[in-house]
Amino acid sequence: MSNKKSIKTPLKDIVEYWGSRIDETELSIDFSDAEARCWRCTYESKLHRCHIIPDSLGGEDTPSNLVLLCRRCHTEAPNINDRDFFWEWLKAHKSPFYDTYWTIRGMKEYNVIYKETFEEIAMRLKIEPEEFEAFLKEQKNFVTIHFGEGRLNPSTIAGIIRSFVKQKELIQEL
Ligand SMILES: [Zn+2]
Repeated sequence: MSNKKSIKTPLKDIVEYWGSRIDETELSIDFSDAEARCWRCTYESKLHRCHIIPDSLGGEDTPSNLVLLCRRCHTEAPNINDRDFFWEWLKAHKSPFYDTYWTIRGMKEYNVIYKETFEEIAMRLKIEPEEFEAFLKEQKNFVTIHFGEGRLNPSTIAGIIRSFVKQKELIQEL
């Protein structure tokens, strides 16, 4: 993200350009929300104009070489001279519902640490997804958002899942 030159292409030109060229069923967002929601994670955010081919590799400041991503997705975007790969990356992260992407990432992070998927936990402890969503909301006072991050990151969400699982296990042992 070391863009030395500031990007001049306006946000709306990028939306207009891709609006007629992209099949929105392949992306996470409805294109009517393309100026408000990140094209990868779908969360409402301040959107960055992200180069498809990086500026430092000769990528141009034109709508055809830009997409709109939130700060975190921008940081995770590939910096490689391969337009097809960029789109394959973006489309592979399609999420079925708005505002679920980072929770799902937290579940994957939990799986990396404890080798159990959220589906397996739900089966083992007989929990409903709504129950976890409620628990997640209650955690606001026990966890924090790193400065400049804007929202809980996947490892923090994984930690919340851990406290949830522990609490559930404790109740079921009684
Ligand atoms: Zn995002």
